[in-house]
Formats: sequence, structure tokens, C-alpha cells
Amino acid sequence: MVNAVDIHALAEGVRSGDRRSLARAITLVESDRADHRIDALALLDMLGAKKQALRIGLSGTPGVGKSTFIESFGLMLTGFGKRVAVLAVDPSSARSGGSILGDKTRMDHLARDPNAFIRPSPSQTQLGGVARRSREAVALCEAAGFDIVLIETVGVGQSETVVAQMADLFVLLLAPAGGDELQGVKRGIMEMADLILVNKADGDLKAQATRTCADYAGALRLLRKRAQDPDGFPKALTISALEAAGLQTAWEEMQTLADWRQQSSVWQSTRDAQASYWFSEDVRAGLLSILQDDPQTAAQVAQAEKDVRSGLKTPAAAADAVLTPLLKRLH
Ligand code: GDP
Repeated sequence: MVNAVDIHALAEGVRSGDRRSLARAITLVESDRADHRIDALALLDMLGAKKQALRIGLSGTPGVGKSTFIESFGLMLTGFGKRVAVLAVDPSSARSGGSILGDKTRMDHLARDPNAFIRPSPSQTQLGGVARRSREAVALCEAAGFDIVLIETVGVGQSETVVAQMADLFVLLLAPAGGDELQGVKRGIMEMADLILVNKADGDLKAQATRTCADYAGALRLLRKRAQDPDGFPKALTISALEAAGLQTAWEEMQTLADWRQQSSVWQSTRDAQASYWFSEDVRAGLLSILQDDPQTAAQVAQAEKDVRSGLKTPAAAADAVLTPLLKRLH
């Protein structure tokens, strides 16, 4: 598909910030084909980062207002002269039969803004596969000179962890809750959040949103203060994505936090730790796929799994039964 000369041309196109080249480059890194993979790695190697973008992870359950928020927040940022890329990490996209950003009606205005780039989630059942593709897409957006990369995910279990591991800041979007109940947000996700935005603080929901925000601010204060935070963070604010209210304040808070982290070296050390995390994950995933591709080992794994399920072997003994012959073959 892409020959050596084309890779150079594609790299040039990406570097110049051309959105069509960027889209093609992302398609290339998303491909599973072995020859595409070689091209993709050559391309990524050739590019490097033009500059570091501010990577903002954004999570929230369906209906909380993520696309409305991205549309108005993104348009505000492009209005400030920023170039904004939006990527989605959605492990369930393959199951639901379409990407969460596939719907053309989402982010309509932003999609037409020449300073914005919107990319639907790669359809892939495995979170690991989605993670690698998304990370590489982030790298391509940086190479294309985007100032801000928004990485969106639906609030489904592990996907937040994946996004947090590729973001500089993590924003959690929540809806106004009834009474003083917190919305069953898992502690682990609360701990990841740098900024909680309680959306829909408008009309009839305004008072409720304000109360919910106070509840979350209280809950955040109970969490241990983290070394990567200046005073006052993590924070909870109210916004209305629909009325574009509170978005400027939210952006100022994000910048305050990003500036502080950059000056205190937390920024770089976090990125270094993320790189090392992804290296280990890639080695782990690579080893597993080598094992799965080897028919003899795959059969042994299947048998061992059966033995564990039927109670014939303990998990440890079954794992040992797979690994010992493998180690013998390696020596
Ligand atoms: P997503 O599933 O998280 O992407 O949520 P959407 O952005 O599609 O929004 C879900 C619904 O909430 C839509 O009907 C929106 O119009 C509505 N919505 C989003 N933001 C706001 C807001 O700030 N205020 C109000 N009142 N409704 C909102």
C-alpha cells in the first residue's frame, strides 16, 4: 500500500500539519497487517514529535455531555488560535458496531473547523490493541503540530486507566446527582481525576449541579494529596457545555496545573514513566501473541485453562505446566 517513497511523502504531509495526511497516517498505524506495521514503525521513527502537545484525557458515562463539551470546548480553543485534535479510546466500539465518534452528528461544527482534527475510535475488541493505536495516533498528532490532544473515553472500567496513562491531565465529566448521593464513581477513577467538571449546570439543573459539585469537592479533599499537584488540586467545577459556561475557567485551571507540572518537572517524569509503562505493556502483549500464534503452546494453554476450570489443577500449577516446557524449548 505505502512504499518507501510514499512514507517520506506521508511524513512530510503529517509534519506540515495536513489533516488528510494525518488521517492516512493514523489509518496506517491502526492496520494489523504485517507489512503495514513495518511502514507504520518506519513512519513513527521518521517523525518524532514536533513539539509536546497538551494531552487531555476526558472521561464520562454516555449521556453526560462529552460530545457537547468537546464541541464547545474545542471551538473555544480554536477561537484562541489553538490547533485541537480529538481522539477516542473506546474498547466497546467493535461490540456496539460503530465507534463512539462515528456518528457524524457529533461535534459537527468542530469537525468543520480547519484548526481541529477529529478521529473516531479504532474498532478493536481488545483494549490492548486500542491502547497501542491510540498512543501512536497521539504521537502522530504531536508530529503534526497540534497544541492540544483531547483523548476521549466512555466510563467503562479499564479504559480510564489506559487514557490516564497517555494523558498529561485527566478530566472527569459528571452529571448533577440527585440529593447528596455521589454517582457511584469508583474511588480509583476519582483518584485519577485532576479536574472534575459537573456538567449541565444550567436551567433547572443549576442548583443541583452546584450541590453535586460541592459534594465532589468534599470527596476530593478526603483523598490523599498527591505529589504531582499544586495546592487546591484536584478541583471540582460546574460547567454548562450546552451554554458554553464555565469553560474558560476550566481551561485556565488546566493551564495552571499544566504550567505547574512543567515547572516542577512532574510533567516530564510522568511522560517518562508512561513511556516505560507502555514499553512493558508492549513486551507483555508481544509475548502473549507469540505464544498464541504457536499452535503447540496455544493447545497447551487451552488444555491448562480447561484443567483450571474443572478444578483439576490450581492456576499456579497450570501456568507452570505451560511455562516449563516452553522454557525448556528456549534453552
Ligand atoms: P455524551 O454521550 O457524553 O457524548 O453526551 P452528549 O454530548 O451526546 O449529550 C447527551 C445529552 O445531554 C444531549 O441531549 C445533550 O444536549 C445534553 N447536554 C449536554 N451538555 C449539556 C449541558 O451542559 N446542559 C444541558 N442541559 N444538557 C446538556
